[in-house]
Amino acid sequence: QGRPLAGRRALVTGASSGIGLGVAQGLARAGAAVAVNYRSGQEAAEALVAEIRAGGGQAVALQGDVSKEEEVAALFRGTAEAFGGIDLLVANSGIQKDAPVGEMSLKDWQAVISVNLTGQFLCCREAIRAFRQGPERPGKARGAIVCMSSVHELIPWAGHVNYAASKGGVRMMMQSLAQEVARERIRVNAVAPGAIRTPINQEAWDTEEALEKLLRLIPYGRIGEPEDVARAVTWLLSDEADYITGTTLFVDGGMSLYPEFVGNG
Ligand code: NAD
Repeated sequence: QGRPLAGRRALVTGASSGIGLGVAQGLARAGAAVAVNYRSGQEAAEALVAEIRAGGGQAVALQGDVSKEEEVAALFRGTAEAFGGIDLLVANSGIQKDAPVGEMSLKDWQAVISVNLTGQFLCCREAIRAFRQGPERPGKARGAIVCMSSVHELIPWAGHVNYAASKGGVRMMMQSLAQEVARERIRVNAVAPGAIRTPINQEAWDTEEALEKLLRLIPYGRIGEPEDVARAVTWLLSDEADYITGTTLFVDGGMSLYPEFVGNG
């Protein structure tokens, strides 16, 4: 296997668990130096950094809340101090605070929008500013971003209006940014996972009944793993995907294909 991200320097937000952790491992395997952002999972972030270094890679753990402007600026300063600059961003941090609409507090609406949408905006803005300071790469993108979206940028989700609105926002933010900075040879894309086995949705897969119900929504017939998402992110960030910008790549085993129509014709 080649190392398509050799010499590239990446920041992955929310990398102490789940998809972010898998993505950080994947980017490191592909040769990137990886800044592992965490909010509260310091032990897990440091264990991941140790694992990457033990494998001969470069990594650093950086604490920070992506919904806070100053902390995001500090994250990018930390990445630049560790690696001398930054070329790649995976804006992955996200939360859910579910409630039927009549019971959804303004606080829970705002919490989800602040992390999932504003947090990605702050990270993308800082990344674009930093890429502009970095070297040009003749014939190649100077910087690339992947925003972690969800099938819920497309599929409405009753009982999760804050989450679905945040991901719908991520889609339009990603496309508008992609359009705005393409001329500068900065690529901005999104990955939209379906159901991936992580702590965020544990109740959807940790019993047999729950898993069976979940699998009815997945034509491909299995739950996704963080590595499935990591491979897609790695490719989108690599020069292999050089002509791709403003696109959402669904990594969902067909969840967005109206699975209730299977065998219904
Ligand atoms: P997770 O809970 O394991 O990971 C979320 C990460 O975000 C955690 O590491 C958490 O510490 C971090 N985080 C939360 N608030 C933060 C903040 N304010 N600042 C910095 N970091 C913060 O869940 P996951 O499934 O790995 O989720 C990762 C991303 O993938 C999220 O954006 C989520 O919406 C998206 N996603 C997940 C699935 C799935 O099925 N698991 C599906 C679609 C999209």
